[in-house]
Amino acid sequence: MTQCQNCSTPLSGPYCAQCGQKHNPKIPSVLGFLGEFTEAFTHADSRLWRTLGLLLVRPGELPKHYFAGQRAQFLPPLRLYLLVTIGFFLLLSIDARISDSEVDTPLIEVKTEQPSDEGGAEQTQPCDVQYSGPAQDYLLPKIKRACEQALNDNGASLSQRFVANVPKGMFVLMPLFAATMMLWYWRPRRYFMEHLILQVSNHSAMFLVGSIVVSLEWILPAGLHGPLELAVLPYGLFYCVTSLRVYYEQSRVLSWSKFGSLMIVYGLLLILVLVTTGIASII
Ligand SMILES: [Zn+2]
Repeated sequence: MTQCQNCSTPLSGPYCAQCGQKHNPKIPSVLGFLGEFTEAFTHADSRLWRTLGLLLVRPGELPKHYFAGQRAQFLPPLRLYLLVTIGFFLLLSIDARISDSEVDTPLIEVKTEQPSDEGGAEQTQPCDVQYSGPAQDYLLPKIKRACEQALNDNGASLSQRFVANVPKGMFVLMPLFAATMMLWYWRPRRYFMEHLILQVSNHSAMFLVGSIVVSLEWILPAGLHGPLELAVLPYGLFYCVTSLRVYYEQSRVLSWSKFGSLMIVYGLLLILVLVTTGIASII
């Protein structure tokens, strides 16, 4: 009987059932030693590409596999999401730097006269912010400082802060939306996590498509940018509907009607989260 060299458990296959070490009684050759090293990388690579490919062309399949327990051959949902969003925001910041060097226009135009008029008072000087609502002592200096800074750099640092805060906002948006989805998929009963996994997966897909679009626009002539961005829209729609149909195994008609009403909810939640993110970025 062969036993595991690591933990001495009797072996019933090439891997140890107790600790997972692969059984390999020979002293490794130099070539095998190097092969082991490269295999670790190529295997990780193939897993990544397989996951990204499936994510792009088979809506709903990846979270379905995950929930069915078929997990070894794909990246887990949250890791995939983090990887894709980090990549997306990295590309976006490179893109902003490129377009900054090309043309000297700010991302957000700031009106010099009236930055904020919640207090309703007359304003003649820039950044003479009037505000007399709740938490005035706390908010007023912060708004003033943000306004002055926005005037100095044409809103560049404010928009940077906003973009940096969007990923945090997404971590609020996805659970919120997943929770409301429970009402749309009441029967058969599903776990909150089931909805959340689908949302994490779908958002990964959209950020991945966004990354591809941003990268393609570096290569393609400017005339094709519009059509490319326009083509993403039907893809996104079709992707989301199909993901619902595949993941929840419901009919096309039902999936489309649920999708329609869910889009309204998602839109409202998105606005809510983005406005909150904007306010948080100012403060
Ligand atoms: Zn073992």
